[in-house]
Amino acid sequence: MRTTSRYRAAARMIAAIGVVSLAAACSGNGGTTGGGDAGGGYPDQNITIVVPFSAGGPTDTVTRLIAEPMAAKLGAQIVVQNVEGAGGTVGAGEVARAEPDGYTVLMHHIGMSTAPALYQDLGFTPLENFQTVGLVTEVPMTVVARKDFAPATLQDLVAHVKANADTVTLANAGIGAASHLCGLLFQTAAGVKLQEVPYEGTGPALTDLVGGQVDFMCDQTTNTSGQISAGEVKAYAVTTPERVKSLPDLPTTAEAGLPQLEVSVWHGLYVPTGTPQDVVQKLSEALKVALADQKVIDQMAKLGTAPVPAEDATPQAHRTKLEEQLGTWAKVIADAGVKAS
Ligand code: ASP
Repeated sequence: MRTTSRYRAAARMIAAIGVVSLAAACSGNGGTTGGGDAGGGYPDQNITIVVPFSAGGPTDTVTRLIAEPMAAKLGAQIVVQNVEGAGGTVGAGEVARAEPDGYTVLMHHIGMSTAPALYQDLGFTPLENFQTVGLVTEVPMTVVARKDFAPATLQDLVAHVKANADTVTLANAGIGAASHLCGLLFQTAAGVKLQEVPYEGTGPALTDLVGGQVDFMCDQTTNTSGQISAGEVKAYAVTTPERVKSLPDLPTTAEAGLPQLEVSVWHGLYVPTGTPQDVVQKLSEALKVALADQKVIDQMAKLGTAPVPAEDATPQAHRTKLEEQLGTWAKVIADAGVKAS
């Protein structure tokens, strides 16, 4: 994928829009606002959370999970808007340029820390153009393949792709996506360069994997758990040091012989720099409430993850994580010599 695809993708953006209704939360006021306990005038209109990947994928799923309890706490409707393209950088760029009033929020993941090392003309600088609101969850990835793909184990997969590097296809959600990063680590560990097939999110990539149009990919358990359990894809390993409770039979990459392939996908909420601090605090408090919601905890557990501890759902903890991750991935990506154009 070339960076110019961002502009093509921008024209196709807003693939899906969903509104989190406050019918239950606001019974009694019957309107789109009020009913929550946020004071000081904010929020008095709908809040949009931009997801920079396709609807139905893992980032989208996590966003929609927390949007409802956040909306109830804030007393406002939350609209989830998918602004896809270029590994999440189109949607992130939109939010970076949005009015800093707390009504446009970004849900992004580890891609916020990899994009600066990959794109020459990103159009935003994470630490300058965004105010962190709080971390949300850290999600393991899985290495999965179409179910009739020949290799049986992760080591077989490595041997197979090395022997068939010119024909094997590796799906991802564009340069800078978590799936791209995980695929990059896989190729580095295996010592191979494969043909990559970019999508605008791993929701559609997984559909194609199940349909047999691509061979394999890495993706968060929040997208792959259902298909793994149903046997619709072949799963090789989980990319975290510990096994995932909801997928107990799946070995870790270290157990499966590829310890270099270790990555988990942290997610966080952002607003544009300049957003008033009391607004950032209200969003962070609403995030904490959402992450303590039993329905959210249970749903995340089914999908192989969990909310971050309350102290990490804060602007400062999130900024510290972002700073650390920017440094980590800049080095890995420089060493790998990868660029988006
Ligand atoms: N899992 C995707 C990624 O590779 C993003 C998504 O569709 O949520 O970054």
